[in-house]
Amino acid sequence: MSEAIQQADELRGKAISLLLTERTAIDERLRLFGYDGTNSITHSAGRKKACSICNSETHTARRCDKKGANESPLTPTA
Ligand SMILES: [Zn+2]
Repeated sequence: MSEAIQQADELRGKAISLLLTERTAIDERLRLFGYDGTNSITHSAGRKKACSICNSETHTARRCDKKGANESPLTPTA
């Protein structure tokens, strides 16, 4: 019984370290795209951010309807 628990704990530890490695790599990539973490759903409460495309405070650049006119920031301009 305790052996199974120990194995599960080991697997959990491995999974966590793998995910942490992935998270670090993803965080680095997100920073390359200019993401600073403040756009996250869990961190956005109480903080109003003006749209960086049209400067309106009613929405963020992610939801801007003028986004189509501009090139997507994730798409490198050819
Ligand atoms: Zn906008």
